Amino acid sequence: MEFDYLIVGQGLCGTLLARQLINAGKRILVIDDGKPDASSRVAGGLINPVTGKRMVRSWLIEELLPAAIEEYSAMGKEIGEQVVHITDIIDCHTSSDDKMQFYTRASVDNEFLNSEDQAGEFQDFFHLPFGTGQIKPALHIKIGTILNYWRARLSDSGMLAKETFNLEHCQISHGSVIWNGLKTSGIIFCDGEAANANPYFHMLPWSKDKGEVLIVSIPGLPDNHIYRHGNISIAPWNDGLFWVGASHDWKYETTAPTDVFRANTISILDKWLKVPFHVVDHRSSLRPANFDRKPFVGFHPHAPNVGIFNGMGGKGFSMAPYFAKQFAANITKGTPIMAEVSIVRYKKILSR
Ligand SMILES: Cc1cc2nc3c(=O)[nH]c(=O)nc-3n(C[C@H](O)[C@H](O)[C@H](O)COP(=O)(O)OP(=O)(O)OC[C@H]3O[C@@H](n4cnc5c(N)ncnc54)[C@H](O)[C@@H]3O)c2cc1C
Repeated sequence: MEFDYLIVGQGLCGTLLARQLINAGKRILVIDDGKPDASSRVAGGLINPVTGKRMVRSWLIEELLPAAIEEYSAMGKEIGEQVVHITDIIDCHTSSDDKMQFYTRASVDNEFLNSEDQAGEFQDFFHLPFGTGQIKPALHIKIGTILNYWRARLSDSGMLAKETFNLEHCQISHGSVIWNGLKTSGIIFCDGEAANANPYFHMLPWSKDKGEVLIVSIPGLPDNHIYRHGNISIAPWNDGLFWVGASHDWKYETTAPTDVFRANTISILDKWLKVPFHVVDHRSSLRPANFDRKPFVGFHPHAPNVGIFNGMGGKGFSMAPYFAKQFAANITKGTPIMAEVSIVRYKKILSR
């Protein structure tokens, strides 16, 4: 079988880009080592239209949200299972200051914020001394279902190499890329946080951001909402369980799950939940974050057949669908990539 492009990595980014390119008629070989704790496999799959403590609209959300709904809905149809749930985030205020902040922001911009207190509806499950606000719409993506389906589909069609890619076994010249005897016209790195060690891209402003989560059983808690308390959210997970996370840790001694996160999160749940819960699993991963907080998309300005689709940080689920489509159109039709995400913005740094 002949291929047009190699894609390194089958996380969220590699999967969405591969799908777009395959739909555009390109022949793709995805190389992925199947790391169980890749960022996409530990993530909650949440799309929150507002950002941070001040709850300002997330960058480009007016375009990212409809693109995400369209893309994940189409993927769900192919899979035969709904993988995007349009829902809300019940923001359980943690203090009167927190509640005031929500009210103030909602009075300025209420497209995604509803300050009406719905504590009555949730009081059987949570202690809600400061009431609730609602963030709507929010999306919840069943990423495990998407990744597993595409892993099987690529594998069945001879488009997946289940191994670790090593740049030393790859010859890259201006005209072609040869890997394991296969000649292709380009290679695109969708390898998540591993890209910061890639000699083509290590100069980019990467900033590692470790996240930890607990997988928890909370019998009886309705699974048609996302619940938030400060920095901790509860979202539906697989098998009737809930995902509880996530931390952001920029200075860490270990990439493994820590006792400190587990104890702190259990203590928050003890005070927040009225119903019993039981921790089933504890996981951690590194987000492919960067100081610019905008993705890295496109071909290397000095190595035109080496591409990157990465740097999504903590917002991969909203940004990846929109920019996978844009990158694929750039590859197949030559249409431009938005300047704010194009890798060309780092032309100078990448020449070193
Ligand atoms: C705890 C946590 C919670 C998160 N929650 C959310 C959330 O709710 N919403 C949101 O939008 N984002 C969230 N994120 C961020 C989100 O996970 C990322 O933005 C996104 O999943 C990154 O996808 P990716 O494909 O770039 O990277 P990855 O998911 O890391 O995928 C990279 C793939 O490449 C493979 N790979 C790497 N190197 C090689 C190699 N040399 N050879 C072969 N294969 C290789 C890996 O095994 C992996 O399969 C969260 C992240 C964490 C850690």
